[in-house]
Amino acid sequence: MLEKDVLELLQKSGAILEGHFLLASGLHSGKYVEKFRLLEQPEATGKLLSALAVRIKKYKPEVIVGPVTGGVILSFEMARQLGTLAYFTEKTPDGGMELRRGFDVSGKRVLLIEDIVTTGGSILKAADAVRECGGEVAAYAILADRSSGRFNPPEPVESMITLEIETFQPGSDTCPLCREGLELVKPGSGHAKK
Ligand SMILES: [Zn+2]
Repeated sequence: MLEKDVLELLQKSGAILEGHFLLASGLHSGKYVEKFRLLEQPEATGKLLSALAVRIKKYKPEVIVGPVTGGVILSFEMARQLGTLAYFTEKTPDGGMELRRGFDVSGKRVLLIEDIVTTGGSILKAADAVRECGGEVAAYAILADRSSGRFNPPEPVESMITLEIETFQPGSDTCPLCREGLELVKPGSGHAKK
């Protein structure tokens, strides 16, 4: 599956929105990725994961681990395709990640999976949790890498697509969408307050 096919699938599923968005960072952008428009469609998600599975088989994982919430869905589907176990990590009160529910990675080869990596924070914390429990991190599998090279762990990374999304400082001098007077939208919470 080529990157352009992955992009087409993301666009068709409605996961890539176009408009004028206020990001959590305070910056503006003309594109926004809403991963749940993809993850809510098992057939489309399964298609992407079967292409990804072909590339991660060689790491011979025994367990797939994903961080909540997207990672739960992805680890389950990837484990189904590879015939492994599917675990997930959950947030700790101090902002870390941990394995609960009797999930046992001790002495096992683990593949970490995540939907979209921006800074890599969640998946790296999930990897720490795996190591703390005696698991071996074999590789990382991600659907879309929009970290601009910031996500660069020592283990192998397999990514289906690299997304570069341009961001702008708010204001008509710096943001072309502000200049056009396009309505500003805060993704996930309806319209932004002005
Ligand atoms: Zn703007």
